[in-house]
Amino acid sequence: MNKKLIITIDGPSGVGKSTLSKLLAQELGYLNLDTGAMYRALALAAFRAQIDSQDDTALEKLCNATHISFEHIGDTERVLLNGEDVSELIRTPQISMLTAEVAANRAVRQAMVKRQRELAVEGGVVLEGRDIGTVVFPHAEVKIFLVASSEVRGRRRFLELQARGMETDLARTVSDVEARDLADYSRDISPLRKADDAVVIDTSELSIRETLEHILAFVEQKQSQLTEG
Ligand code: C5P
Repeated sequence: MNKKLIITIDGPSGVGKSTLSKLLAQELGYLNLDTGAMYRALALAAFRAQIDSQDDTALEKLCNATHISFEHIGDTERVLLNGEDVSELIRTPQISMLTAEVAANRAVRQAMVKRQRELAVEGGVVLEGRDIGTVVFPHAEVKIFLVASSEVRGRRRFLELQARGMETDLARTVSDVEARDLADYSRDISPLRKADDAVVIDTSELSIRETLEHILAFVEQKQSQLTEG
């Protein structure tokens, strides 16, 4: 019987984390946890309550008063903010930028990390985000860090926004992606960085399927090491 692993997938935006985590979780029969969606939902709540992203006290209160959960309907995953389906509302360029600001707040990170650990404690989970392998689950059995050029990532985001029917242009999307990465890499608390023991995969030239095969091979290798050990 295979052990139920904790698998972390970190990296900047547009590297394919969401798609890959979902497919990997399906393939392994694991739960998939999109931690970015949790930060996005909180940012939407802050936006609606007109809370400044620098206002620590108000954000802390907001975290305590906000319930973020996921609902699986067939193949799709919906994000619920206090029971309301906000899956589409959290994906606009405006909320994306605000999320990076809100996510830099210490109280917000503490609340989110606590919830993520609770949701994944039993293992058999693929978690994707920015600090999963470094902060949330530093002892996870499998850690993947995805990278790709900012042009490739910007283009992917652009196509994704287009597919969702949102108006945007390519140059703007690339610069938004770069600005958000800069914020995520350079914040003081839990900045985006590769865990020392994470495997790096550059997805610039790889298809989703090819990347998935790489990750699956790595998971299999880890499982046999654990069985032998
Ligand atoms: O992954 P996604 O693009 O949905 O994440 C949105 C934002 O949430 C990121 O740009 C980052 O600021 C924040 N985030 C984070 N830590 C995570 C996941 C997301 O700070 N684990």
